[in-house]
Amino acid sequence: MISLKNVDFSYGGEFSLKNINMEINDGKIISVLGPNGSGKTTLLKIISGIINDYSGDVFVDNYNIKNIHRKILSRIISYVPQDLTLGFDFSVKEIVMMGRYPHIPLLSDLNKHDLDIVKNAMEITGIKNLENRSIREISGGEKQRVLIARAIAQESRVIVLDEPTSNLDIKYQLEIMKLLNKMVKNGDKTVIMSMHDINLSIRFCDEIFLMNEGKMVSSGKPDEVINDKILSSVYGINAKVLRNGDGRIVYVFPDEFNGHG
Ligand code: ADP
Repeated sequence: MISLKNVDFSYGGEFSLKNINMEINDGKIISVLGPNGSGKTTLLKIISGIINDYSGDVFVDNYNIKNIHRKILSRIISYVPQDLTLGFDFSVKEIVMMGRYPHIPLLSDLNKHDLDIVKNAMEITGIKNLENRSIREISGGEKQRVLIARAIAQESRVIVLDEPTSNLDIKYQLEIMKLLNKMVKNGDKTVIMSMHDINLSIRFCDEIFLMNEGKMVSSGKPDEVINDKILSSVYGINAKVLRNGDGRIVYVFPDEFNGHG
């Protein structure tokens, strides 16, 4: 279980995360939704141990992540950024291999077991054919899959992803979501991701955490959290939420405009 207790954080400017409390059970796939600038990336960086000058606490099981050594923490939590800027020109395979570094002694080479894991991670994310290409010369969607492959190779129990589907076309959006879903359901991993696509989130996530202006405004099962009132107050849009007979959300139309009326 991951839990956040009274987390506050500020970069020093106007924006701050205010009193965030969360509980995320193992074996769940959850998404953090909210408008641009609401604090999703900041929150994910805190959960992953990348930002650590916050007040309050983040626990993995009962361990405070501030007390866990970086290398050990990387075996527990992996972080998939939206994008990656690198000083050096690495190949796709080299990037995925980096996922194994938390598992090997400093300056050692990867062994056959590690290389098999790297190969498998590239295969299931559909990037094996790109392995020798430079990370600088592939598309945004391909890069996103490379970063997901690196996290898979890292074999952490918790995978934190910042908008993993934002650069993907519809085929890979679905494939990546299904892959993450499978990893959660089969292997008792936990997936925490920020998303823009409310419908993908409803379809694939066990729970939604909705943020606005640095605060957590709602959390729970998608059917409980998402309604037209909250979408209007958080996103300022006139959305239509289509439900079936038992109240389950079928689809959210982000705007009533259909272009034909
Ligand atoms: P989201 O992911 O929901 O778009 P972010 O967490 O990226 O939101 O950003 C929240 C706020 O923090 C924004 O106002 C953003 O400008 C600000 N911010 C993000 N990163 C930094 C930074 N490194 N330094 C200062 N302000 C930042």
